Amino acid sequence: MVLDFDTLIDNHIKRETRPKGIGKYYPSEVGTCLRKTWYSYKYPSEIEPELAKIFEMGNIIHDFIVQVLKSEKNPEISLLESEFPFKVDIDDFMISGRVDNMIKVKLSGEVYLIEVKSVKDIKYTKEAAPHNIVQLQLYMHFTGVHNGLLLYVDKGNLKTKVFEIEYNKEKAEEIVNRFKMLHKHLKEDIMPEPEGRAHKEIEWMCKLCEYRDKCEKDTPKAKHEFN
Ligand code: SF4
Repeated sequence: MVLDFDTLIDNHIKRETRPKGIGKYYPSEVGTCLRKTWYSYKYPSEIEPELAKIFEMGNIIHDFIVQVLKSEKNPEISLLESEFPFKVDIDDFMISGRVDNMIKVKLSGEVYLIEVKSVKDIKYTKEAAPHNIVQLQLYMHFTGVHNGLLLYVDKGNLKTKVFEIEYNKEKAEEIVNRFKMLHKHLKEDIMPEPEGRAHKEIEWMCKLCEYRDKCEKDTPKAKHEFN
């Protein structure tokens, strides 16, 4: 073979793993299993090349949607921001980071936040998945922009489905409480419950989890035994 393109791609998207500091959390961190996030602070690990490629595909789709929204051929919508800083202080910690998966647009005189998610096959997307709404609720809460859209894009054919997400103050506060829980578990060095293995509806998260072996060793109980 003249060139190993898989390796070229792996090299291109490889990112250094930097240890994360307790007390500064990323907005995307509480939509997933809390134990997994806790492990990522305690035992930083490199993202597997296969998973890094899936993330990169998400970035490519996001950039494409930004181009669509910027296009002069779509004058009814105008792009306000496609990447913006976010920082909120809560008790003795902060949630901060660049928001690069959310788009702010103006449509019919109203400001909307759009979160873009790429999916393998859009025909299986029937409704907005609860774990996809977490970040959108958080941003709606802290930015005061209470119009939210969750946009799913099929990676194979660029077909889309869009769902309007209603701002829900109680849900947003629950999300903030999850950050408080994460902070408490990290500060006190107490491992959280293995949420992914404990709840059938989010069990799929374990399939994408780089800490699966460690988690099963730390808590060798059968699935759903926690329910
Ligand atoms: S294996 Fe599942 S339960 Fe355990 S940390 Fe990973 S996602 Fe959470």
